[in-house]
Amino acid sequence: MITKDIQLPVKKSESGMVANVLEQFNKAANHIDLNPNIRRILNVTNNEIIIHFPVKMDNGNVEIFTGYRVQHNNALGPYKGGLRYHETVDIDAAKALAMWMTWKTSLAGLPYGGAKGGIKINPKLYSQSELERITRRFTYALGDNIGPEHDIPAPDVNTNAQTMAWIADTYMSTKSPAERSRYQHVVTGKPVGSGGIEGRDRSTGYGVFLTIKLWAEKRNVSLKGKRFIVQGFGNVGYWASHFMEQEGAILVGVQDAFASIYKPDGIEVKQLNAHIENHEGSVNLFPDAFAIEKDDFFGLECDILIPAALGNQITAENAHLIKAKLIAEGANGPTNVEGERILIENGIEIIPDILCNSGGVIGSYFEWLQNRNGELWHMDEVILKLEKVLKESFNKVYEYANKENVDMRTAAFCLAIQRIEKAYIQRGIFP
Ligand code: GLU
Repeated sequence: MITKDIQLPVKKSESGMVANVLEQFNKAANHIDLNPNIRRILNVTNNEIIIHFPVKMDNGNVEIFTGYRVQHNNALGPYKGGLRYHETVDIDAAKALAMWMTWKTSLAGLPYGGAKGGIKINPKLYSQSELERITRRFTYALGDNIGPEHDIPAPDVNTNAQTMAWIADTYMSTKSPAERSRYQHVVTGKPVGSGGIEGRDRSTGYGVFLTIKLWAEKRNVSLKGKRFIVQGFGNVGYWASHFMEQEGAILVGVQDAFASIYKPDGIEVKQLNAHIENHEGSVNLFPDAFAIEKDDFFGLECDILIPAALGNQITAENAHLIKAKLIAEGANGPTNVEGERILIENGIEIIPDILCNSGGVIGSYFEWLQNRNGELWHMDEVILKLEKVLKESFNKVYEYANKENVDMRTAAFCLAIQRIEKAYIQRGIFP
């Protein structure tokens, strides 16, 4: 038997994100004195799939794309997690993001494991019909490496309900016509009308808002009049801002991949959304807003910062600039370990990604159940149930953090890891 507090080395070759999630994991694993054998299992990803596949472009040429699917762990149920289309997608990013999914689904008490994947691509460079062919060909190539009871993808960065509809249709078309409908829950986040569930579109953003609200209640403060800034104005950033605004908070700054804007007297969310639609998907040139330098964004005067874009954004280079008192992680892995150390020193609190953005996968779970059971859920039921699951998770994390005197991220990881550890101990290792 080896000693209990082994800390497995993080390989140099691994990207910032893998090192980051492993450090977060190891910190929590040390805190709960995780069984060393189970630590070994959780330290690696079960399956890593890399696929190179050809697609015919609109001009008749063939382009080769690279797609990934990493399945980290399925001790608690089928692998679950999104597919992203972005130039930063590679095997390391997929590995790290798959690990975060395992912790996220475990913390939420869902019967799922964790996976993530995507295609290394800038989707803006392709037409809609090219994206459809790319998606369908990737799905076909993945074959039965995904499946409704095995690995269930969902939307992530630059993928949406339309992408999921193509995946579902392609996957179902590979089955016999009589069996087709049994496979509808191979993906979640589908359009309502194609097996999707009402409310899935806003469930991540709603969860981000709700966890902020729950945090504010614990602190006895109101969100009314609180100023917030958002990095990334995709699905998560938009819906989180929408619900924050409804609660009386004021959006004062937004950054996307092209521009950063600041408007101290407030940005109307609906108006910004309409502007984005007419300005090639960017917040650039929003009327009466100051255009600011990219590096000045995190230093804006505000109460709450919502990173809702990519990983590794808050680092040792910029963490000391942050004026917000609370960071609510809508994105996965937006804060790296060094950045976090500075934030904690400065008394800034963090609602960690695996809690803060878990509304998305919780909504996915409801969609999966809806399809699996042949049911039709309505918006009010979805939101009500989502609130119930999120409140339970939030309270568990908050109480654990207080009781054990750790930050909320470590608390969330401890709870998530303990659930998996228990399952392994009950079951043992085959053979
Ligand atoms: N991509 C989302 C996430 O990172 C949703 C995953 C899902 O619904 O499976 O949590």
